[in-house]
Amino acid sequence: MSGCHDLHSHSRYSDGTLSPAELVRHARACGVDVLALTDHDTTAGIAEAQVAAREAGMRLIAGVEISVTWAQRVIHIVGLDIDTRCAELQAGLAHLRGARRERAQHIAERLARSGIPGALEAVTAAAGVEAVGRSHFARFLVEQGHVKDAKRAFKRYLGRGASCYVASEWAVLAEAVGWIRAAGGVAVVAHPARYSMSRSVMRRFLEEFTAAGGGGIEVVSGCRDTQQARLLADHAREFGLCASAGSDFHAPENSWTVPGRLSALPPGCEPVWARWSGPHDAGAVS
Ligand code: AMP
Ligand code: MN
Ligand code: MN
Ligand code: MN
Repeated sequence: MSGCHDLHSHSRYSDGTLSPAELVRHARACGVDVLALTDHDTTAGIAEAQVAAREAGMRLIAGVEISVTWAQRVIHIVGLDIDTRCAELQAGLAHLRGARRERAQHIAERLARSGIPGALEAVTAAAGVEAVGRSHFARFLVEQGHVKDAKRAFKRYLGRGASCYVASEWAVLAEAVGWIRAAGGVAVVAHPARYSMSRSVMRRFLEEFTAAGGGGIEVVSGCRDTQQARLLADHAREFGLCASAGSDFHAPENSWTVPGRLSALPPGCEPVWARWSGPHDAGAVS
């Protein structure tokens, strides 16, 4: 299956700003042929995105981005081509959304103690949000004029080490991979370059990930350089993992991420979408 693949994106059900249908239409207008909706810890937007994708003449891959705690780090694992009806997956995601709600309460308490009341009400009032996250707090802080932009909101209030940071315990790596596989999907390491892991830590991580049944890594993401992509392609080959590509699109306002604006996979990669060719996608992409 050829065409432009973007296998990492967000809707309003987590921390994106577009509805699933708006996201699909926007991605289509940007030239995407195959889009994965991968909201944080929820699949609530998939059904709406599927309908919109059919109307727009593009293929939608059901996905999710699962928050994992590994060696005191937060790692994101994307699940692609999942059956959203899988009870094991949904139970795991429901638990994570509970942890998100609990963390949101603590963040709001800290903000209130810093003289910024009303944050919890504001972030939970945002209609349709299934997985409440720090981006929602960041938008609230910008709207209230406490900071100029989201980046500063993370630096000053929400990021690790900032005044209102609240640590949380996310899924165990092997569990998250297990849920994705139980749902018939392929587990992919999201934006591996963003964790600032040394080469040896990355290899230790990939060993565990592969042993747990992980299937791929995002070799190409948002604004990564080609040298980075080549290094990740080497890791993929070494561990027998497929290569994925995704923009991690959240909002049209973030001009640095555009759906489908991705460089090609380095030579020698096995694209994750090669797994989906065959009868099950016959006629899905015109
Ligand atoms: P959470 O999963 O709720 O802890 O929030 C993580 C999300 O916040 C990421 O998926 C990004 O969308 C966003 N994010 C993380 N760091 C930053 C940053 N420095 N500036 C803007 N957004 C960020
Ligand atoms: Mn996000
Ligand atoms: Mn992520
Ligand atoms: Mn993401």
